[in-house]
Amino acid sequence: MNGTMLRDMAVKARENAYAPYSGFKVGAALLGSSGKVYTGCNIENSSYGLTICAERVAVVKAVSEGEREFTALALAGSGAGFIYPCGACLQVLAEFAPRLKIEIVEASGDYKITSVKELLPRAFVLKQREEADGN
Ligand SMILES: [Zn+2]
Repeated sequence: MNGTMLRDMAVKARENAYAPYSGFKVGAALLGSSGKVYTGCNIENSSYGLTICAERVAVVKAVSEGEREFTALALAGSGAGFIYPCGACLQVLAEFAPRLKIEIVEASGDYKITSVKELLPRAFVLKQREEADGN
């Protein structure tokens, strides 16, 4: 699984987005350490607060199938320009992969590489966890 394949999977996952309210479709593809890829899309709700982002859909699918470690996430938004995961998604990603690589692809196919650590350098962690030093 290379970056191009993962980005293509995020673009493909975006097709399933349910975004009748914003019209803004997002796709995500999360690569687990096992080599398996879990895709997600944003799923809106008429009660807006219940909307869930593509990234969290992918994480929830993965964790519910037993995957706990991840190496990369590809994210594809709608239209031109790069989108970044929201704070809630970054916190959820940091729970499992605080140093996760993130590849963000925009409409032209151009992409940027960043990471959870770069976008959320001080994620919340409970002190009981071994990783509580925030590294
Ligand atoms: Zn989000």
